[in-house]
Amino acid sequence: MASLSPLLKQATPVIVERGEGVYLYDEDGRRFLDFTAGIGVTSTGHCHPRVVAAAQEQIGKLIHGQYTTVMHRPLLTLAERLGEVLPEPLDSVFFSNSGSEAVEAALRLARHATGRPNVVVFHGSFHGRTIGAASMTTSGTKFRAGFSPIMGGVAISPFPTAHRYGWDEATATEFALRELDYVLATVTAPAETAAFVIEPVLGEGGYVPANPAFMAGLRERADKHGILLVVDEVQTGWGRTGRFWGHEHFGVTPDVLVTAKGLASGFPLSAIAASSDLMAKAWPGSQGGTYGGNVVACAAALATLDVIADEKLVDNARDVGATLEAGLNKVAADTPAISDVRGLGLMLGNEFRTADGEPDAATAARAQQEAASRGLLLLTCGPFGNVVRMIPPLVVTEQQVDDALEIWSGVVADVAG
Ligand code: PMP
Repeated sequence: MASLSPLLKQATPVIVERGEGVYLYDEDGRRFLDFTAGIGVTSTGHCHPRVVAAAQEQIGKLIHGQYTTVMHRPLLTLAERLGEVLPEPLDSVFFSNSGSEAVEAALRLARHATGRPNVVVFHGSFHGRTIGAASMTTSGTKFRAGFSPIMGGVAISPFPTAHRYGWDEATATEFALRELDYVLATVTAPAETAAFVIEPVLGEGGYVPANPAFMAGLRERADKHGILLVVDEVQTGWGRTGRFWGHEHFGVTPDVLVTAKGLASGFPLSAIAASSDLMAKAWPGSQGGTYGGNVVACAAALATLDVIADEKLVDNARDVGATLEAGLNKVAADTPAISDVRGLGLMLGNEFRTADGEPDAATAARAQQEAASRGLLLLTCGPFGNVVRMIPPLVVTEQQVDDALEIWSGVVADVAG
């Protein structure tokens, strides 16, 4: 008899049996409000009937239509329909399975298209666990420690994290752009730099939004030097932030967009998007894989697109997100241990600090555990593990947010009051 490796670290002891909308049910039938959405994946809620129907219909026809061997219609239709949501001029897409794979695909594309070796990433970012993506990840040493030698060619520049210094946003932005220029002058010359790779909102790194001035500064430098601007929208895409893409908050257009998670409501599917001209600079066969663009996942993604449009889920993320944020701010106002509430739409984090201002991972973990025991599933994040994040499915209602806030305020009063 074999057993599951202890290498898997789980945030809760829950063994889940089924899901419906914003709720998960364990094997004993206990109901949980799921404010994790499977790490920001189940955008349309658990088992949305239209996603289930699309997947069930597809699964009876074809489960695996291997895309480097034969083509299948759901992939072609999805590629076409992504044109409805992608920014111009990103009119060409390539599919894979996970966020990490898509980040690696973007890295390959950037290196091929520019003929340059290096990338600049922004301190606190998470881009994945495969060695290439992990080498670009600086949201915590746990994703790198002991994995060396990691991939070379990655320079790290500051992200504008005003809250860390007690600065205002303008000061943090000015600092981060000045340091980027310094990195380009001292570490990786522009002529050797293929791409800037950035999350519009630091996800695993603690739910820190970028801002228009910083993103404009990146765009300007990218244009000046022929460097590609790659946005990793794995966590911020598909309506999560109250706009379809996170970067839309900041008024810039990326050259390459990376998406996964919310794309297929829980089926493994990811993609990169770029202009056809840019894609044409790499060569056919330079990307691929056995499972990429799975036909059932593509069918689920098509249904996901329909549900997001028909149920106005992007607007819901904005509006219900505002209610959640206001409620969290109210709790924080009564709780000195919560030093900051931040994020966009339905991607919100609560940062815990001690009375001395030090990151307080212990209280954040206690709050997360206590919330789970009271029926509210949450995750922590941040380089110090001191941020409790809330990322419910985008179908969440005002009532469900009220229910979650009631549990949360009780939890916080008990663990940090
Ligand atoms: N990029 C970002 C911004 C992410 O949040 C994640 C996952 N948390 C990844 C990449 C990696 O995605 P995956 O776990 O599907 O490989």
